[in-house]
Amino acid sequence: MKKNLIIGFLLVMFLIVVSGCGKTNPSSSQEQNNDKLPVAVSFQAMKEITEAVGKDHVEVNCVIPDGTEPHDFQPTAKDLTIISKSKMFIYNGLGLEKSWLDKVTAADDNKGLTLVEASKEATPMMVAEDNSDSKVTDPHFWLSVEGAKLEAKNIRDALIAADGKNKADYEKNYQEFAGKLDDLKKEYTEKFQNSKRHDFVTGHAAFGYLARDFNLKQNSVSDALLSGEPSAKKLKELTDYCRQNNVTTIFVEDMVNPKISETLATEVNAKTVKIYTLESSPDNLDYISALRYDLDKIYESLNS
Ligand SMILES: [Zn+2]
Repeated sequence: MKKNLIIGFLLVMFLIVVSGCGKTNPSSSQEQNNDKLPVAVSFQAMKEITEAVGKDHVEVNCVIPDGTEPHDFQPTAKDLTIISKSKMFIYNGLGLEKSWLDKVTAADDNKGLTLVEASKEATPMMVAEDNSDSKVTDPHFWLSVEGAKLEAKNIRDALIAADGKNKADYEKNYQEFAGKLDDLKKEYTEKFQNSKRHDFVTGHAAFGYLARDFNLKQNSVSDALLSGEPSAKKLKELTDYCRQNNVTTIFVEDMVNPKISETLATEVNAKTVKIYTLESSPDNLDYISALRYDLDKIYESLNS
């Protein structure tokens, strides 16, 4: 009898332990993760927009590590495994990923992969390269109110096509994101119309589309593709330009050497101010807050 009690007690303990494990079993949280749509993106800005539209329904991984400059990037085989584990690959386009996109499409692992060009149907801007007369497409479409809105729309459509059961949420998230962009457009259109000046100077020419949104003019130390240091002639022109246009601020960006911008600022008695290109994460700001920060700093610089 006593023996049976001991066996019964042990059996009860065993069941408690087993069921207890079930509750904290990592496989249950794994299951939740597996519910999310696995999405690979090329770089930080695509991650920000995809997460704004996808929210809890997507698991977004970046091919280009945060803090790595995207204009001169070549993925390793390991970087590309992020893509082969995903249902879709979202890239900016307009030439930004041109040098490695064929490696993505050629890989056997990526046969069923959906490719999403976020800038599809954009009206591109052509810009000059510093060291030649040739024109290239400016890729920085994400860094503008109109551009972010179109990219969010294209990303929304791709998420709905891949994960129709969450269509209503993707639409709602897009409306919320686009609404905030519309508010920014309205607020800053008025401000810039009444601005004292309309010319601003950046280190990296990443703000061409943002300038187009508000009829502003961007000039810069380095070109849109960061393809080398400016010539002495270009620097002389830029110095004269800053003096003629009363430029009070030279903007500096993440991952771009600020040395020439600092020298230019000293030369023309301007100050340097940090600005976000969203090519790396904008500190602890979200996408909309980073764009608002940029617009604020540009506005201040045109009215000080
Ligand atoms: Zn750039």
